Amino acid sequence: MQIDHQHHLAGNQVIQKDCPKNKIKFESGLPDTIVIHFTAGRSAESSANYLSSDVKASAHLVIGRAGEIYQLVAFDTIAWHAGESQYGGRTGLNKYSIGIELDNAGELKRVGTEYQAWFGGRYQPTDVLYARHRNETMRSYWQTYTQEQIDMCEQVCQLLIEKYGIKTILGHEEIAPTRKRDPGPAFPLDKFRQNLLSQNRTDEPDETGKEAVVTGDLLNIRAGAGVDFPTIAPPLAVGTPVKVLEEKEGWVKVETKISGWVSKAFLKYE
Ligand SMILES: [Zn+2]
Repeated sequence: MQIDHQHHLAGNQVIQKDCPKNKIKFESGLPDTIVIHFTAGRSAESSANYLSSDVKASAHLVIGRAGEIYQLVAFDTIAWHAGESQYGGRTGLNKYSIGIELDNAGELKRVGTEYQAWFGGRYQPTDVLYARHRNETMRSYWQTYTQEQIDMCEQVCQLLIEKYGIKTILGHEEIAPTRKRDPGPAFPLDKFRQNLLSQNRTDEPDETGKEAVVTGDLLNIRAGAGVDFPTIAPPLAVGTPVKVLEEKEGWVKVETKISGWVSKAFLKYE
């Protein structure tokens, strides 16, 4: 698999689709970010058809459960996947990022011995994870991703990092935490970006000792650096001033009235 001069993926498992509505190119030096999504749809094909049709949403890629890939938008062109969003000092992440959609039904409801998606699709317990979302306190049911899908997503991200100098990989749930829950807890986001971006980690400025403010509303503050640690106080509101005590793998230990760990994505440094 490779990225050609038209900014298209070329490979056995890649299907190119026309998506004429997206025409505007990224500014020079961009994209530098990848945003991961789930489709909350029935199949990769149906999601690829929908996103390339005359609707106000699209993405660069849709990756199916067997690792098949639909490309809708060339990587030098802005797609419409992020919506109203922010990260660090930036707003409107479409103009900075490649959007990758993974075919996944999202949150499921338990119905008897099965699990049901919002569109009526039914799933067996072996395809379901009961887990807490990073932005929430209660556990719920989520369709799992396939290993083929995660592996293919990792391969594609590696190519994008090499070709475009991608520095950041984020979940939609991190750039629009009040609206979005994708890719959700079934996707190993922290491990995924740690594997892919570890070689770039030393390039990131260390914010230890700085003052910052919270940019995401209801930011969970935890006992340790990761979503598996319990929250230790009510979530922090937008605009809460904090002091950065320590940093580790996308998490920042902050001090406000109390001290604890928060996701680095939701702080803006003074
Ligand atoms: Zn999304």
